[in-house]
Formats: sequence, C-alpha cells, structure tokens
Amino acid sequence: MKFSEDQLTALNEKFLDQRPQAVLEWALTRWQQQVVLASSFGPQSIVIAHLLSEITAQPRAFFIDTDLLFAETLQVKQKLEARLGLTYERVHSHLPIPEQAKTFGPMLWYKNSDRCCYLRKVAPLRAYLADKKAWITGRRREQSHTRQQLQCVEWDFGNGLVKLNPLVMWTKAQVWRYLFEHNLPYNTLHDQGYPSIGCMTCTAPVQANQSERAGRWATAEKTECGIHV
Ligand code: SF4
Repeated sequence: MKFSEDQLTALNEKFLDQRPQAVLEWALTRWQQQVVLASSFGPQSIVIAHLLSEITAQPRAFFIDTDLLFAETLQVKQKLEARLGLTYERVHSHLPIPEQAKTFGPMLWYKNSDRCCYLRKVAPLRAYLADKKAWITGRRREQSHTRQQLQCVEWDFGNGLVKLNPLVMWTKAQVWRYLFEHNLPYNTLHDQGYPSIGCMTCTAPVQANQSERAGRWATAEKTECGIHV
C-alpha cells in the first residue's frame, strides 16, 4: 500500500519523537509477517532485532550474504540467533563469485563497485522484497551527510514498499548504551576501528575524526551500496 505525501508527513510527525517501539508495533499490527528487518549485523540492526523480539514472538529478519562477509559478521549472526530465538533469512545472489569473475572479470568490486553491489545486493534484495509490505532498516540521520534528511517512515520507490527507520533520530551513543544495557553481542571488528562493516573487500578501519561510514568504499567516491537509493 502506497502512502500519499500527506500521509507520510502525518506519520512522521506522529512517530519521529516517539520511542522506536511505536512505529514497529504499528507496522506489525498492520502487516504482521510481511514486515522484515534488514540486518547487516551492525549495532543498529541488533538493537532493532532485540526490540522486535520483545514485541512479537515471530520477528522476521534477513541478511544479504554477498559471499564476501567477514567471519566476525557471521559469528554475530549465530550469537543473535541463539540469544533472540530468531533465524535470519539468507538473501543471496544466484551468481557465485567465480561465475561473476568469468562474466565481468576478477575483483569486480575494484573495477565497478556499482555493478558488483547491484549483482550481489540490490538485485537479490529486490527479489526478496517483492512479496513484502514493509522493511525495516537501522539507518540514522547522524551516520553521514547523505542520511541527514532521513524520515522514520518512507516509501521505497525502487522496491515498491514501505521502508521504516525506527532509530532515525538516535545517536551513536544511544545505540551503544542500549547494546551494553541489554548485554547484546556485537561485531568484534567495532573494537578494531571499524564503525561500519560491509564486505571484506570494501571495508576499511577509520580514524577517530572520520565519519562512521568513511571506511566503506574508502578509496572510491561511492557512499552507498544502492539498496538505500
Ligand atoms: S560492498 Fe564491495 S564486494 Fe560487496 S557487493 Fe558491494 S562492491 Fe561488491
């Protein structure tokens, strides 16, 4: 169901100042099992997975397995599944890395990262979301200059469904306080200078004075993988 601009404005006026649980409860009441949480196993998505597990007995969550994730990322997935009693659905490209290399050349991520992200993330996500009503992300306004206009409730034109950002107004400090207060597992790479973690091939540690996402495609102009455009 597509919302009008006026409806979206009213929803955001309603939810922006409320606790994130409010928008999650609203979405679950409306769409039940057709609401899914996207997880990169970053701190935000861990907070939301925990919130969802307290609201519903059957939260739905997924991750995009590019075949290039850090081992530490997959370890967090296992810990969360054990702790929260959920199973992250695996969204995966039909194109194995060797096939991608045969067709487009080796290490496509260095030569054409947009195409690589499309093949490994954007296209599989689009197929997965085709029968869903809403998806949830952990994006926050504070994360980068490209995210400062984010709203809590958006219409995702690319995928044709509602997109929810319940932590849009949260700070990094709030996210980490929540993780520690609830003793939730997190990716140990965060303790090694990686505030934002994607594929091994495209993620670097950052300096203390850099933005949270500065280590993503650090040697390219690229700032987003394409799933949030
Ligand atoms: S983040 Fe890098 S390796 Fe991962 S899909 Fe995008 S370009 Fe490819």
